[in-house]
Amino acid sequence: MNNIYNSLELGKSYNREAVHDIFDSDTKFTPQTGSWGLHGIVRIKPNHASGSTKSYVFFVTYGKAQGDHQFDEGITSDGTLTWQSQPRQDFENSTIKDFISHQPDQNSIHLFLRAKGGLPYQYLGRLGYVTHDPAREKPVYFQWKLLDWENGLKEKVDLKLLSGKSSHEYHFPPPKPSILRQNQTPKNAKKIVFPLTSHSSTWFSETVLVKGLDKSAFLHHGTAVPMEMLAFWGGPINESDDRKIELSYRGIIYEAHFEKDAHGRTRLFWQVDFANTLHGVFPKVYDAHLIDQSIDDIPQIRFEKTGDNTYHVEFINDRIIDQDTDLINSQDQNQYRDGRIVKSNGTRYERDPRNRRLAIKIHGTVCAVCGFDFGKTYGLMGDGFIEIHHKNPLYQNDAEINIDPAMDLIPLCPNCHRMIHRDRSRVITVDDLKRIYNSKAEQSEYFI
Ligand SMILES: [Zn+2]
Ligand SMILES: [Zn+2]
Repeated sequence: MNNIYNSLELGKSYNREAVHDIFDSDTKFTPQTGSWGLHGIVRIKPNHASGSTKSYVFFVTYGKAQGDHQFDEGITSDGTLTWQSQPRQDFENSTIKDFISHQPDQNSIHLFLRAKGGLPYQYLGRLGYVTHDPAREKPVYFQWKLLDWENGLKEKVDLKLLSGKSSHEYHFPPPKPSILRQNQTPKNAKKIVFPLTSHSSTWFSETVLVKGLDKSAFLHHGTAVPMEMLAFWGGPINESDDRKIELSYRGIIYEAHFEKDAHGRTRLFWQVDFANTLHGVFPKVYDAHLIDQSIDDIPQIRFEKTGDNTYHVEFINDRIIDQDTDLINSQDQNQYRDGRIVKSNGTRYERDPRNRRLAIKIHGTVCAVCGFDFGKTYGLMGDGFIEIHHKNPLYQNDAEINIDPAMDLIPLCPNCHRMIHRDRSRVITVDDLKRIYNSKAEQSEYFI
C-alpha cells in the first residue's frame, strides 16, 4: 500500500489536520490537543499503510523552547537535519531506542518543518538516522539525513531554513559546563572553550584533562595545577582548604589532595602508593630523573572526572601509542592482503597515528562497548592498549574529510572492533553493538 507516499508531496505545505487525515483518518482530529493536534513526535499506528510500529511523524518548528530547553534545529547544506528529542526523553525511552535503531527501509520517519509558529508545515520527506550524541540525554541530540535531499527536495526547501553549514562542519553543541555550576564562584567563571591548553596541560572537555608529568611529578609526589584549570578540580583552592580527591587507577583507589603554596600556586599531591605506581609504569623516566637526565618522551597522565571528588586515571605515552599503531597497521595489512580492507567501510582513518594519539587522550583506553580495560586485566603489559574506531562510516566516503577525534573516533577493544566491522554490507553503530552486547537476545533480531 503506497497511498501515503502518493498523497504526500515533497515541499508541499500541510497543516496538522491534513497530516492527521493522511496517517490516521479513522480518528477524529482535535486542534491543540492529543498527538496529532499538539505533539512534535507522533507514532504512526501499526495497522496503517506503513505496516510497522516504529514509524513516526515529526512536526518541527524552528527555535522553540520547552521548559528550560531551547531547541536548536537546523538543516545543513548537504541535507542533514540536527534535531533534539523531547526534553524528558533519555536513552531508556522506547521512542529514543526506536530512533537509534531506525532502519529507513523498514520504518519511515516523515518530517514536517516550519520556520515559525502560525505557518503551515512544509513536507520534507523521510528521514534516515545518521548519528546521535551518546554523551547527552534529556533531550537526546540527533542528526538525520533527509533521504529525498538529492531527489529534488533541495530545490524545494525554503532556503532561509538552511544554516549554510555542511554536516561535516556541524558539531553537536557543547554540553553545559556543569563543573562551573558546582564551582563556588560561577559569576566570575569565564566560558571555557575546549580544548584549553596551558603549560603542559590540555583540558579536553568538562570531564577530561591530560597533563604532562614533569620531573617534580616523579620526585616530589605532585603536579602543578594551572590557574585556568582549577575549575576542572572543583574551583579555586583556599589556603585553609583541605580538598581531598580519589584517583582510581586499574580499579585501585589512591588518595590525593590539593595544597596552595606561599606564591598562590596550587599543586595536587599524591601519596607514596601512587608515586610507586607511577615509577612502576615509567621506570626509565624515573631513573632518568634520579640522575638528572633529560627526557624526550614526557609521559602524560589522563584524568577523567567520574564523580564529585573521584577521577579515573590513565597514563599515556605517545611513543607507546605509535608503537601500537604500527602493530595494528601491520596486522591489518597481513590479514587483508587481498585488498578487501580497502573496499570495506574504511578503517584507514582509525590507523592514522595523529588521530589515534588524540582519540586516546580524549576518550581514554577503556572499550566504549564492553568496558574492557587492558591495564586492569593484563596489568602493566596491557596498560594503555586499545583500538580506535571511526563512528560514522557515512563520512568515510569523503576523501576530503577532517577527522574530529572528539566526535568521530571512539576506543574499542579488538573483540568489539572486529564485531562492528564484521558485516561489511551494513553500518553497525557503536550503540547498536552496545545494545547487542547488553542484551544478547537482540542479536537474532539484528542479523535477520
Ligand atoms: Zn569491547
Ligand atoms: Zn573501526
